[in-house]
Amino acid sequence: MSRQHEGGCLCGAVRYRISEPAKFSSICHCRSCQRATGSPVSGFVGVTADHFTVLTGNIALYESSPGVRRGFCRQCGTSLTYEGNRWPDEVHIYTATLDDPRVLPPSVHTMTVDSIPWFITEDDLTEKTGFGSAP
Ligand SMILES: [Zn+2]
Ligand SMILES: [Zn+2]
Repeated sequence: MSRQHEGGCLCGAVRYRISEPAKFSSICHCRSCQRATGSPVSGFVGVTADHFTVLTGNIALYESSPGVRRGFCRQCGTSLTYEGNRWPDEVHIYTATLDDPRVLPPSVHTMTVDSIPWFITEDDLTEKTGFGSAP
């Protein structure tokens, strides 16, 4: 059986599980993620939709731009998921909501065109000015 990882929101109302393999692990610098989370960057792990299971609670959806649905806990506001028509049958979970966010480290920075200059990332990861295959 493939490795599985659980995660959830700040208040604990929403719990989920993902199964490997992950399609990608990325760090997104885009403006929408900055606004949605209040943070300079957002880590994402992408899995196929059948590798994502909500265990408890309900994920509320907000359409942040046409064809993009951001999932969050209605109770505590934690950002949990990202789904886009551009990536059909995929769910991208916010990496830091995993119980152990260390398990699936990122390999790429995306949307660096929106990077905030005072947030310095010094690592060897690939940098993409756009999305590439991962948001
Ligand atoms: Zn919550
Ligand atoms: Zn983003």
